[in-house]
Amino acid sequence: MYFHCIAALLAICLLLSSGGASAVTEEEVVAGAARLYRIRIDALAQAGMLDRDALFVARVARIAQRLSEQARRDNPAAQVLSWEIHTSSDADDNASCMAGGKILVSQPYVEQLALTDAELAMVLSHEMQHAILLHNLKEYHEAVRLDPGWLARPFSALEEAVDNDGRLMGQLAELNREQEVEADREGMAMAWRAGWRASELAAYFRKLEQAATMSHIGSATHPSPLQRWRAARRQAEALARGRTGE
Ligand SMILES: [Zn+2]
Repeated sequence: MYFHCIAALLAICLLLSSGGASAVTEEEVVAGAARLYRIRIDALAQAGMLDRDALFVARVARIAQRLSEQARRDNPAAQVLSWEIHTSSDADDNASCMAGGKILVSQPYVEQLALTDAELAMVLSHEMQHAILLHNLKEYHEAVRLDPGWLARPFSALEEAVDNDGRLMGQLAELNREQEVEADREGMAMAWRAGWRASELAAYFRKLEQAATMSHIGSATHPSPLQRWRAARRQAEALARGRTGE
């Protein structure tokens, strides 16, 4: 009986310590992303690769502004994202948006694909959806579900691991692919609501697919460019017929 009581107490303590330590919070994720974004931006500035072309910076800012206004109209109750946008002249970058709305767009990427404004809007809208849909937070929660031991370590260790630990990245690959599909779908829908034509948004994925065919690019975390182009074309046809694209 005594041992049963001890066991029960232990079980309660374990429950409290695992549940009580609570999960990673969005505030933590946003603060970590802001810190990493600042390091990246500072490094680009040091290398003379930040916001080099004022016309391009203004073009990206104008399109992102129209999209962020749409995001606010779509969901006025959503947490306020503090959007921040920079451009890089790093040919190895493409486009990214970190938690909280920290965007970085590579000018060489946009120029290599000769993106129109609508196609650039598709890229930005996809990236913005990652922040709007709290994808990083969901990724961290999945990592903690797989290994609650992460809660006992500093958050920065987990932040580092999701981008560098091959085993964890493999475990998260399926979730990452689902998030990419979701960002494509919601990104196109939001840009369409903001006023761009669906077929012109979908054209981005055709360009991506053509570029991938030439360079044989593959990715573990993204659906194939052909899958993305087919899904975008289907959604664009549905949107053009006046449906939601679901
Ligand atoms: Zn993405």
